[in-house]
Amino acid sequence: MSDTFRALVLDQQDKSVSASFKNLTTEDLPEGDVLVRVKWSTLNYKDGMILNGLGRLVRSYPHVPGVDFSGEVVSSTDRRYKPGDEVILTGWRVGEAHWGGYAQYARVKADWLVPLPNGLGADQAMAIGTAGFTSMLAVMALEEQGVSPDQDGEVLVTGAAGGVGSVAVSILAALGYRVAASTGRAETHQYLRDLGATTIVDRNELTDTSKPLLSEKWVGAIDSVGSSTLAHVLSEMKYHGVVAACGLAGGPDLPATVIPFLLRGARLIGIDSVMCPYAYRVKAWERLARQLPTDHLSAATTKVALSEILPWGEKILKGQVKGRVLIDVQ
Ligand code: NDP
Repeated sequence: MSDTFRALVLDQQDKSVSASFKNLTTEDLPEGDVLVRVKWSTLNYKDGMILNGLGRLVRSYPHVPGVDFSGEVVSSTDRRYKPGDEVILTGWRVGEAHWGGYAQYARVKADWLVPLPNGLGADQAMAIGTAGFTSMLAVMALEEQGVSPDQDGEVLVTGAAGGVGSVAVSILAALGYRVAASTGRAETHQYLRDLGATTIVDRNELTDTSKPLLSEKWVGAIDSVGSSTLAHVLSEMKYHGVVAACGLAGGPDLPATVIPFLLRGARLIGIDSVMCPYAYRVKAWERLARQLPTDHLSAATTKVALSEILPWGEKILKGQVKGRVLIDVQ
């Protein structure tokens, strides 16, 4: 390996955050058990916030962002990993409280890694990334609560043209669910149908919170929007319907009543990908390798060089990114 490598480094001055590409050495990297040559990373909503210094997610600068990555182990002091092993990292506040994947090398704790599952390329793993991994956790949560493709009704996905939403639509359709995709972007309707959505819902139809109960529509829902959208969706759940709450692209509040829980037995399940336990992670990645159609994944992925990432960080905050952004780090 060469002595220096490229990294995107965030610095803070007078409370404003700036980004620049720097040459680092492995000596600059934080402590950890495993040194990984990062091949691929991605852009998630949280990366957009971090790149723009929002949400006080990063408390210490200089900082290397990138909440997820895939790559190859270079050296390890932990016996679970050896040089050449292909690995994935998502979560554990990497890219936020610990240096992340927007650099050609990363040093991390072995506990944070999972092996790349058979059948998945390192690039495909990051085309899925944290967002797609979260989608699979949401699907698993619906299944655990008894939602099944045999039920009479559709599963609604909100923020459908975004990263979490696109992968959720694709997995659900591949598993045989009937999927309603909600989006605010008319130009994504055909894309969402190609991923397997059978119904398209305008996101403006999902914001009225004036009535605690509306006509029963959905057997399940995967919501990446939160706020009035989640409140509205709760009021439209069928009896015993299940909502997996993943995100807050529309806001962190929840202007809802308890009536859907009391009168329809609606269930609201929280999804957290960051601290998700190891066994559950491995299960989710193995299912993604088997059950996410690769042609859908390709259609949902835009490949970007690390050197081009900064404008994309602004786009994702404006809801202008379609599907997933795969970052070529090497
Ligand atoms: P994206 O920006 O790719 O997708 C979000 C989508 O939400 C947009 O594409 C848009 O969909 C919709 N949207 C954006 N703004 C609004 C708005 N004001 N009102 C209604 N809909 C809106 O982000 P990701 O898919 O990466 O992440 C989605 C959410 O999930 C984020 O809040 C993120 O923080 C969260 N998340 C949570 C995780 C967890 O562990 N719980 C892990 C990963 C992400 P459209 O154009 O189709 O309308």
